[in-house]
Amino acid sequence: MSKKVIIETDECIGCESCVELCPDVFEFDEEAEKAHVKLPEGVDEECIEEAISTCPVECIHWEEL
Ligand code: SF4
Repeated sequence: MSKKVIIETDECIGCESCVELCPDVFEFDEEAEKAHVKLPEGVDEECIEEAISTCPVECIHWEEL
């Protein structure tokens, strides 16, 4: 089963942890001061898992496709 990673942007506090951990998957929107997903079916799942557990407001999730 495939899955993609999503960010609940309303919850994001713009700490940039996910962007620092997985720059290939997450990107920081300077204007909105929030992170967003640039590559939803991330190549590096381990990195995404780390970002999920590091996010201080737990707003990064997997979504089953
Ligand atoms: Fe936003 Fe969470 Fe990423 Fe921090 S780790 S920028 S709060 S999504």
